[in-house]
Amino acid sequence: MARCLPSSFLDRVGRELYCCPVKRNPTPEFEAKLLAELAARTKTLRTANVLSLKCPCGKVILPPTPALPHLEDRQRGFVKSRIRRHLRDEHQLSDHIIDIVVSRSYAD
Ligand SMILES: [Zn+2]
Repeated sequence: MARCLPSSFLDRVGRELYCCPVKRNPTPEFEAKLLAELAARTKTLRTANVLSLKCPCGKVILPPTPALPHLEDRQRGFVKSRIRRHLRDEHQLSDHIIDIVVSRSYAD
């Protein structure tokens, strides 16, 4: 059957991959924007009374938690680990990229 020739099958698969936005990786531009936005949101936590962080992708990274000044360092470490886990599990980012994002989030 002509329709089952390997070449047309491959063409169809190629077209499906190309046309299916859900399965494609995010573009570097999209990713860069998302990470910049996330870093900006994380920075605002330093002066917040309630810690709460949502990724620009829409997922909650940290549900609202009262900021405790005497636990500041510990809470900061906790927030960092939540960010790391989210970026690794949801965005499949490498540890190298995650390190950059986290340190940018806490840079002055
Ligand atoms: Zn996200």
